[in-house]
Amino acid sequence: MINKNDTGLVKRSQAVIPGGIYGHMAVRGFSDTLPQYMADGNGCRITDTDGNTYIDFMCGWGPVVLGHRHPTVQSAVAEQLKRGDCLNGASPVMVELAELLVDTVAHADWAMLAKNGTDATTASVTIARAATGRRKVLMANGAYHGAVPWCTPVTAGVTAEDRAHLDYFDFNDLESVRAAAARAGDDLAAVIVCPHRHDVHRDQEQTDPQFARGLRELCDRTGAVLILDDVRCGFRLDIAGSWEPMGVRPDLSAWSKAIANGYALAAVTGTDALRDAASRIFTTGSFWFSAASMAAAVATITELRETDALERIARAGQRLRDGLAAQAAAHGFEVIQSGPVQMPLLRFAGDDDFTLTRRWTDEAGARGVYVHPYHNWFLGASHTDADIDEALERTDGAFAALTR
Ligand code: PMP
Repeated sequence: MINKNDTGLVKRSQAVIPGGIYGHMAVRGFSDTLPQYMADGNGCRITDTDGNTYIDFMCGWGPVVLGHRHPTVQSAVAEQLKRGDCLNGASPVMVELAELLVDTVAHADWAMLAKNGTDATTASVTIARAATGRRKVLMANGAYHGAVPWCTPVTAGVTAEDRAHLDYFDFNDLESVRAAAARAGDDLAAVIVCPHRHDVHRDQEQTDPQFARGLRELCDRTGAVLILDDVRCGFRLDIAGSWEPMGVRPDLSAWSKAIANGYALAAVTGTDALRDAASRIFTTGSFWFSAASMAAAVATITELRETDALERIARAGQRLRDGLAAQAAAHGFEVIQSGPVQMPLLRFAGDDDFTLTRRWTDEAGARGVYVHPYHNWFLGASHTDADIDEALERTDGAFAALTR
């Protein structure tokens, strides 16, 4: 059994970092066995500060789509760093990346770059308001679009005024969107939505194609902007955009996470109709023009386009899903596996407060498999059949531990 690490970092951090750690990576919120601090990553393996190694099914919570320290991405970054990262002007690689995004993303006529997913969702909302001259934005109840006052799920420090022009609908429920649009009337600027429902603390839910098409029609009819928040799914499910298989194209997409295999980068892509508004808003940041992460993105997207990486991710995800289903049944458990296989989630049936699920993810963590009880996991192109089979050997022990 692997134990949670305590190299002294946890204690030291509590003196100098509020709460010792903050945000989604605070393991105390979701695990008793996983370590808080990580020392190393290589392919699909990560190693904590005590030297324990885990097969990683969170992939840095999404960004690491090709595997930790992918050689092509690492050398693209190293080459760029020889010339500089933060200069008094954007580097040529910015244009190269924007051209690549326009060529890769189906709806994109242009691209703007930023650092985090929240930058991209927030800029998308601002562009939509600038383009329409309207104020109201509709989002799904429970959806996550970032960590600033207009959208953070935790309302400490947030005022009602920060959300004065937000209204809410239920995912996959077109009638609730139509009702919210009616409340907004001629002040409806945008609808922002994720490719599928991947909210924490519940099973994932695939998108009803009628719902996606209905949102497109509603936006066309009202002149509102359809924003797809592809931050979590983007560049893992479909290289051209996560709604491309359904044939529904947004006006704007927000990207981050997998775009640069772990380097800090986000993007907004949009259609020609929104180009002028995008050029009129003021949005920027001290590090938004850093060239190294753009070089990482060019290398990552090129690798995703030119190799079978996305097929390998799907195959690994399917192998994991099938294996876990067989294992759960063999141990006499009913489990619900939800979401695309590339972004899986497992919950024990009837375990609405995640008690049993968390016991299982803790047992998996103690056996060197890094999974989460109530946030979707992520597969990457570095997960081979052998890695999945090794992970399954360990999760078998986790199921067995629950029956003891
Ligand atoms: N939108 C979605 C769908 C996300 O999953 C996230 C990050 N989990 C964000 C926006 C915000 O991205 P970031 O944390 O990079 O600001």
